[in-house]
Amino acid sequence: MTQLPDFDPTDGGRHPSIVDRIAASTTPRVPFSVEFYPPRDEAAEERLWRAASVFSELGAAFASVTYGAGGSTRDRTVRVVERIVRETDILPIAHLTAVGHTADELREMIRMYGEVGVSNILALRGDPPGDPLGEWTAHPEGLRYAEELVRLIHEVGNFHVGVASFPEGHYRARDLDHDTEVLVGKLRAGAEYSITQMFWDIDDYLRLRDRVVAADPEQGAKPIIPGLMPVTSLRVVRRMVELSGCALPEGLSEKLRLAAGDGPEENRAAVREVGIEFATDLCERLIAEGAPCLHFNTLNFSRATHEVLANLSMAPASDVAATSL
Ligand SMILES: Cc1cc2nc3c(=O)[nH]c(=O)nc-3n(C[C@H](O)[C@H](O)[C@H](O)COP(=O)(O)OP(=O)(O)OC[C@H]3O[C@@H](n4cnc5c(N)ncnc54)[C@H](O)[C@@H]3O)c2cc1C
Repeated sequence: MTQLPDFDPTDGGRHPSIVDRIAASTTPRVPFSVEFYPPRDEAAEERLWRAASVFSELGAAFASVTYGAGGSTRDRTVRVVERIVRETDILPIAHLTAVGHTADELREMIRMYGEVGVSNILALRGDPPGDPLGEWTAHPEGLRYAEELVRLIHEVGNFHVGVASFPEGHYRARDLDHDTEVLVGKLRAGAEYSITQMFWDIDDYLRLRDRVVAADPEQGAKPIIPGLMPVTSLRVVRRMVELSGCALPEGLSEKLRLAAGDGPEENRAAVREVGIEFATDLCERLIAEGAPCLHFNTLNFSRATHEVLANLSMAPASDVAATSL
């Protein structure tokens, strides 16, 4: 168990930055990492810790923990990152969104992260609560953009900060040039890396990387970590796509539709097979293109990610069958 010292805003060196952790990773081929969300009930909590233990064994470089709109998961997010610090070897990143908070509330939240031993924060603006695609209004005493949150986190303490990036462009951005300017602005404000929105077309990722390098070579040298999700359910992926504004390529969508079948219940086994094969192929291509790390959106399950890692020879295939979910 790690003994946590009191939070000292000048001390960010308690844990390494994500960038250093990735550089030091000993995972075969390329480092990998996982995203968790704070569980809502006991069964979900149990599943999360089973998944965390699998990924800890497999040598995940880090685990990021999401933050609900308007602070709706505040206490649960803090509890999960604290437990990751205390009980696992995984380096946590705590997400933080500006939506619905005053600047003072955000300062307090950042200090709270520091107090439970978090050194890495992903700075996000967030979406309007209720309808993520609805009208965005900043809190009158809050922040408008993630770039401001990056600066605020650095004001509060010596944290390592990352931001979101969007291979297809953020759905509210005027165009891809504006989207690139926004990302470069967040990196110049002090973010050390970005993690992308999930995507399925590698060209979108490669074009984003090229755009950032062309706009600012210094910022373009910072890691752009691809966010990935092996599809295991057509229903779930459709919902994710709807909420995030990203697109499923027509070819993949058609294959998944055919695999799901016409019955009242989708054929999960067939959908899973297509999803895992597609994710494996995408990861192979990302590794060939020099992606710095593969970041899996796990939905707190471990098996699909584990299977992809085994297909990539990044985890022993014999262990997958023993992974229950
Ligand atoms: C890896 C990842 C993790 C995420 N985790 C969470 C989470 O835990 N909780 C959650 O609620 N959401 C999460 N999200 C979703 C995220 O909050 C939304 O996508 C949100 O709409 C954008 O957040 P941002 O940090 O990119 O915002 P910003 O970078 O502030 O951009 C938001 C919009 O404002 C525009 N913009 C930015 N700066 C300017 C400017 N100076 N002038 C004009 N326009 C500007 C941008 O083009 C964009 O359209 C995550 C997204 C990603 C990719």
